[in-house]
Amino acid sequence: MKLKIIGSGGCVSIPRPCCSCKVCVEARKKGFPYARCGCSLYIEDENILIDTPEDINYALNNASVNNVDSILWSHTDPDHIMGIRVLEQLRMDWLGYSVGKSNENPVEIISLPEIIEELHELKTDKGSMLDYYKYRGLVQIIGTGYIEKEKLTINLIPVGAGKNVAIFVIRQNDKKVIYAPCDVKPFPDNPIFKNADLLIIGNTIIGDVLKEGFVLKADNPLTKELFVMDEIIELKERCNIPKIIITHLEEDWGKSYDDYRELEKTFNGIYFAYDGMEICM
Ligand SMILES: [Zn+2]
Ligand SMILES: [Zn+2]
Repeated sequence: MKLKIIGSGGCVSIPRPCCSCKVCVEARKKGFPYARCGCSLYIEDENILIDTPEDINYALNNASVNNVDSILWSHTDPDHIMGIRVLEQLRMDWLGYSVGKSNENPVEIISLPEIIEELHELKTDKGSMLDYYKYRGLVQIIGTGYIEKEKLTINLIPVGAGKNVAIFVIRQNDKKVIYAPCDVKPFPDNPIFKNADLLIIGNTIIGDVLKEGFVLKADNPLTKELFVMDEIIELKERCNIPKIIITHLEEDWGKSYDDYRELEKTFNGIYFAYDGMEICM
């Protein structure tokens, strides 16, 4: 299985526009991997992209991705869907249309039915964006909780009362990887997550001292919504997972690429993502 983290940034990617904090200044100067696009994952075996933050074109180019056959969405928060126009960049052929040709290779849009329903609410003057892309022949829409491809399978496990957030369980032969980028606290107690080879997870605050010396107190409301590192260690033990990669790294955490390299030395089997990070299993 070949995975590539093509966007490791959070709701606010790095460098944040107009920001003069040291992390953003360094990222502006040095580029990737100090810079981070919004959170997304590419599964190279089957040309599958998970999530489309607004800078997804930039992320795809940076990671030298040369084909996308399917797009899966984890949920419909803006930081995961606002790059949906990538569908036009991938398949729109105005010159072909002008001489009567139609697109023969639609991108498969796959997600939980609840998420597809929410995506249909994204509208412009032409109505639902997804319906417009379907009308143009750019997409084929599939609402499902299970995907079987030639080289791997993916289960989409719903999280939360609305069942409108997905955790992905990607399997190939005897390897199992879990991708849980956002909005996954509390982490569901489901045996499918046990004994995975790797968990890639977002939704985590890194450290007690954040951007520009902000001290995170235990009662800060962010700690209700997001995991803290002790909870990630506990989750690793509870699910018996040897390796965790933390992604969706917010600019607010105030840490640079080098800071994360140093920090991961203090943990056992816990690493921090960067744009272009390749995972082969
Ligand atoms: Zn900044
Ligand atoms: Zn998010």
